[in-house]
Amino acid sequence: MVEVHKVSGTANDGNVYLVLDERPILVDAGMVAGPTLKNIKKYIDPKKIETIVLTHCHHDHSGGAPEIKEATGAKLLLSVKEVGCVGDDLTTVSYLFGQEAPEYKVDETVSNGMVLDIGKWKLEVLETPGHSEGSICLYESTEKVLFSGDTVFPDGNIGRTDMYGGDTIKLIKSIERLTGLDVKTLYPGHMEITDRDVNRQIQMSLRFARSVL
Ligand SMILES: [Zn+2]
Repeated sequence: MVEVHKVSGTANDGNVYLVLDERPILVDAGMVAGPTLKNIKKYIDPKKIETIVLTHCHHDHSGGAPEIKEATGAKLLLSVKEVGCVGDDLTTVSYLFGQEAPEYKVDETVSNGMVLDIGKWKLEVLETPGHSEGSICLYESTEKVLFSGDTVFPDGNIGRTDMYGGDTIKLIKSIERLTGLDVKTLYPGHMEITDRDVNRQIQMSLRFARSVL
């Protein structure tokens, strides 16, 4: 069975997920690497992590990337649409956290329809712009798992669109796309993991997004 553990360590961090399949990956890197690495070590030697995939470039999901990359030796994947954000305080919104955006190397870019084969799970990359231009979600269709980044959160919540590259119309279209999936477990970029009638929760997110347009 594939295990997923939330390993982010500080309150301001975006959620970081350690996915323990045949080829372990990390979904997002959080902002502060130290506590995250400590949590990872509860489950696995960090050097066994092969891949870090970022749902988007925002600092609370990527600030810890250089240190985690160094500690794991994993290759780092980011949307082809957000490679240019790396090291930029505005597009990564690191300024909101009073920090400078760190530089790090993107080893591979991802785009819509790509599949990350990590063993039992094949994670499909869905481009879901709106919260940021190159936001992605990852969907696993056999166990119906969605890593939603900051596109949707539990209980009908949605990613904010009032930062660089944000676009509410695009966000609505992206959430419409997510409502076409069958999702049993949602691993959001903030808030808690949920498996409680997730399709309905995503429908609520869509209604909410439409209402604030
Ligand atoms: Zn974000």
